[in-house]
Amino acid sequence: MGRSNQPSMSTPALLKVDNLVKHFPVRGGLLQREVGRVHAVDGVSFEIAAGETLGVVGESGCGKSTTGRCVLRLIEPTSGEVWFDGKNVTQANKDELRALARDMQIIFQDPYASLNPRMTVGAIIGEALIIHKLAPTKAAFEARIVELLETVGLAADHMKRYPHEFSGGQRQRIGIARALAVDPKLVVCDEAVSALDVSIQAQVINLLEDLQEKFRLTYIFIAHDLSVVEHISDRVAVMYLGRVVEIAPANALYSNPRHPYTEALLSAVPIPDPKVKRQRVRLQGDVPSPLKPPAGCHFHTRCPIAQKGLCDRERPVLKDVGPGHRVACHLRS
Ligand code: SF4
Repeated sequence: MGRSNQPSMSTPALLKVDNLVKHFPVRGGLLQREVGRVHAVDGVSFEIAAGETLGVVGESGCGKSTTGRCVLRLIEPTSGEVWFDGKNVTQANKDELRALARDMQIIFQDPYASLNPRMTVGAIIGEALIIHKLAPTKAAFEARIVELLETVGLAADHMKRYPHEFSGGQRQRIGIARALAVDPKLVVCDEAVSALDVSIQAQVINLLEDLQEKFRLTYIFIAHDLSVVEHISDRVAVMYLGRVVEIAPANALYSNPRHPYTEALLSAVPIPDPKVKRQRVRLQGDVPSPLKPPAGCHFHTRCPIAQKGLCDRERPVLKDVGPGHRVACHLRS
């Protein structure tokens, strides 16, 4: 459950996200005027130390992938700040962003969709080497591709093949090699194992852990399932409708969840020990639309202990409930 001997937030932060907001305008009518706004990310803050893995979990539409993409500026945030290694990512100009792209990479959910089917694996992995001028000669280029393929458990002769010739797990290894090509410090794993079978998921997670140790990588590991992030995460942030509702060291979150939403998510995670029973908490209804999130606590429409007059009016802020453990709930302290 979670990991030990990992860097904690007592080490200086490599990444700081401060009050990040992303609203997507919704347009309609003949003149395509703005008729609403999707509140995808609604004031998210967190920090990550070098070498640490922060798991980010929540149902689809909770804003976790948008948060990851805003951190890398693949999507422009509406407001808020992102700091990486002392540099302001949100204010970076084009040249500064290109330099930052070497340090911050992403691995996508669907390796097939994210790999150009017309390019060989060597060309896909080597693209960033060319962009960042990291391989001065053809020989150096090929040697680096071979090194990267072998690092992720593939073979040198795979460089001449095309993505469709590989299994889902192998394609994700290609995606990982592509991300590693520029020697990044931070990697956003955006649902990186969600599309894979459970046994392949475990192999890819083990590979990511080995690579983290070898290259001292820092991960934001995004998934919709708490059981997927349990093994790899040092800390876990739970998101609901654009907000972080609980963030804690993995051990504390899994053994003592404090937010009713985390409790519900966790109650659906199978426990390997048959003697340990966990009561299933079934949430009523669906996640409300991020176009019009409920007032007060976004979770109040589904929360089994919501208090009328309080939860539907006042937004709960994250407050400390234990070492490194923060919860946004009026009724939990
Ligand atoms: Fe439930 Fe209220 Fe806590 Fe929100 S603030 S999680 S509605 S008890």
